[in-house]
Amino acid sequence: MNSNTSFSLEIFPPKNDVGIEAIYKNLYDFAKITPDYISVTYAAGGDGGTGTADIASVVQNEHNIKAIAHVRCMGETKESVGEILDDLVAHGIKSVLALRGDRKQDAELTDFKYATDLISFMKDKWDFEIFATCYPEGHVESENYLQDVSFMKKKYDLGVTRFVSQLFFDNEDFYKMRDEAVKIGVNAPIVAGIMPITNAKQILRTVSMCGAKIPTRLSKLISKFEDNPDALRQAGLNFAIEQITDLISNDVDGIHLYTMNNPSTAKTIFDNISTILSVVNK
Ligand code: FAD
Repeated sequence: MNSNTSFSLEIFPPKNDVGIEAIYKNLYDFAKITPDYISVTYAAGGDGGTGTADIASVVQNEHNIKAIAHVRCMGETKESVGEILDDLVAHGIKSVLALRGDRKQDAELTDFKYATDLISFMKDKWDFEIFATCYPEGHVESENYLQDVSFMKKKYDLGVTRFVSQLFFDNEDFYKMRDEAVKIGVNAPIVAGIMPITNAKQILRTVSMCGAKIPTRLSKLISKFEDNPDALRQAGLNFAIEQITDLISNDVDGIHLYTMNNPSTAKTIFDNISTILSVVNK
């Protein structure tokens, strides 16, 4: 990662063979964007983490793009996480995003309570570059965003070298979180996670999963265009491009695009910000 302002992509392992075939094909288009890195989720939104190591390995070894494998500890034991980490090493993966995962009923039965436990565990035996999460609006279980900022510091002190944020639609939330993190000594890049809204179903799902606030400007756009998929997609992409432009103007360390495995969305966004990015990265 040499850029001052990185541009990275997130993809997820599809659940069926058709999707898996498509993602390997789509990786060629994602690679043309020349992102600084591609992160591959682990069982996001459900059980079973199959595919993360295989896809991350193709990203890195066949496309020569740095791969970040997400690793989740919720519901895992030290032994099972150890196996996942050993498997990543065997696939040549050197960087991970250390996650707790969403809370499950059997949470107390596991060896890990928080991402910080996973990070400490990893540090003991493995030599990964470790990324972790942060939450501009606060995590859904937290009283407020400041509580999460204090855990960013804990993650940073444990050796995290980069933070990737939960998606958000109001940049002021991101700036507030970033200021507080810097104030208490988090001295690692804080990357903004951006999800372009491209269809109506996605909006409901996104908000119900992570509780993101929809600002009036975005909700107006959604209600105006929700009955016309093409118009909604265009308006959603425009919103994301404006959001990213503002973030870059405010010296964001990086943009991490939640691609939903759609290369054309990623390309449209990248084409519209590449000149701006080249100015800050020259
Ligand atoms: P943590 O950092 O552990 O935080 C969880 C809660 O505990 C927060 O309320 C926090 O304030 C609190 N907390 C943190 N540390 C401590 C501590 N030491 N002591 C007490 N309280 C603490 N989910 C997946 O299943 N797979 C994925 O691939 C995936 N990728 C993601 C990528 C990004 C960039 C983000 C932002 C989220 C992702 N998620 C994924 C969702 C994530 O698993 C959930 O948001 C989950 O609820 C929290 O995970 P975390 O690692 O942020 O948890």
